[in-house]
Amino acid sequence: MTLHPDVDTAVALACDAADAWAGSDGLRRAALLDRLAEALENDRPALVALADSETHLGAARLNGELDRTCFQLRGFASLARDGGFYGRIDDPAVAGPPPAGRPDLTRVRVPLGPVAMFSASNFPFAFSVLGGDTASALAAGCPVVVKGHPAHIGLSRRVHQLAQGVLRSLELPEGLIGHIDLDTHAAGLELVAHPGIQAVAFTGSLAGGQALGRQAQARSQPIPFYGELGSVNPVVVLPEALEADRGSLAKTLAASITQGSGQFCTSPGLLMMLDSLDARALVGQLAVEIDQIGLHRMLSERIHQGYVQGVAALKRHPEVRTLTSAASTEGAGNGFVGLVSAAAFLADQALRHEVFGAACVCVLATSLDELCAVLAAVGGSLTTTLLGADGGGERDRRVFRIAQKISGRVLFQGMPTGVAVTHAQHHGGPWPASTQPLFTSVGFTASDRFLRPVALQDAPLWLMERCGVPV
Ligand code: NAP
Repeated sequence: MTLHPDVDTAVALACDAADAWAGSDGLRRAALLDRLAEALENDRPALVALADSETHLGAARLNGELDRTCFQLRGFASLARDGGFYGRIDDPAVAGPPPAGRPDLTRVRVPLGPVAMFSASNFPFAFSVLGGDTASALAAGCPVVVKGHPAHIGLSRRVHQLAQGVLRSLELPEGLIGHIDLDTHAAGLELVAHPGIQAVAFTGSLAGGQALGRQAQARSQPIPFYGELGSVNPVVVLPEALEADRGSLAKTLAASITQGSGQFCTSPGLLMMLDSLDARALVGQLAVEIDQIGLHRMLSERIHQGYVQGVAALKRHPEVRTLTSAASTEGAGNGFVGLVSAAAFLADQALRHEVFGAACVCVLATSLDELCAVLAAVGGSLTTTLLGADGGGERDRRVFRIAQKISGRVLFQGMPTGVAVTHAQHHGGPWPASTQPLFTSVGFTASDRFLRPVALQDAPLWLMERCGVPV
């Protein structure tokens, strides 16, 4: 494969920076991450205005996302300061013959090396140049080469320039945070194929993720591909939850489905219930609520077209009854609510596909068996929300077992949009929610994706003082 010179140069600079950064201590890494957060905050008004002009997400949301991005950077700075990334385990030597007798062993984790990072269209700050993937990779001791997303490439350039200023001020090499400003599929494939790249972090479409994942595996040295490729995020409303305040549940659901014009990976795309008058009333109220919510323009024409086509397919489906009255999918687009029986849902795989945007399919089941079959048929999902499952009886345990099998996070209250950045968070799940279900892309264990364990046997003191990573 011929490499574009920009790709080759960015990866070569990252490789040059890799050994020294792998050997840096936690304080050095924390200083960089803290300074990056500060630089973002100092440029906030210009960054938010630029992001808004490119993404249409609005100043309130973008300011919040910038806060989250700085919080993540500072959180990973704390992790680095505490040395948490080493994950050190010591087994002192035991005299005598094996198996009880053993040499001195220490398990440490070492950085993988340069990481290719694909910015997400729907998080111009939090999953882009200085987002969670970059912060977790830098904290782990890995340089990153970011492929800016074409939907907000101006913002990418500006944030990258800010990052370069911080690197210069700390006398760190420019290759620690590289940026590729090419909006072609070929550039992304070349980046993944480059022998200097040692891992890939990606958030985006199933097709894009599959193409890049295949490239990661096709190399003479295959590398880990951490992809987040889509999720329908089922919400199961059990009868107990319908008995409470149905009106406010409809409002809360509608707000979650339409938030950011539905452009969240955790947006609820499926609502499932046992069929009843209450369940049908909730679905009707949800459609009324969604009809009243104006949506803003979507992130890009490509994403808008994907939404328009997805909703059109649902509207054409002979078994789906459209409940929202808004007929148009022009301009900003309108939210969509459709109703389908569990039998029809189970009969057609196409109804399980994510429609990225403010669309929700409501499935009514005639029995608990059918409800469980519908939930199991969803397949891998970032989240499943179970409302009304607080009792812990046989029904709740049965539904929970399925929810846990198919998802990375199970909620018992609230809505799945909004992913807290904590140590216990898990943002992943079985395919296609994640290509690597053992790892998370949100939260402070996200650094684990970029660290490889090594056992050191009878290692000399000079190495142990550095937790096995020479300067
Ligand atoms: P995308 O089309 O997958 O693009 C994401 C990145 O991957 C871009 O940098 C793009 O590069 C690159 N790419 C895409 N297809 C590729 C291919 N075949 N080979 C090499 N590189 C490729 O995602 P998007 O633009 O963000 O949105 C499109 C759709 O993705 C949405 O409608 C939605 O369905 C889904 N999406 C899902 C999530 C999620 O959280 N799971 C988030 C955002 C979007 P270039 O375009 O520059 O070539």
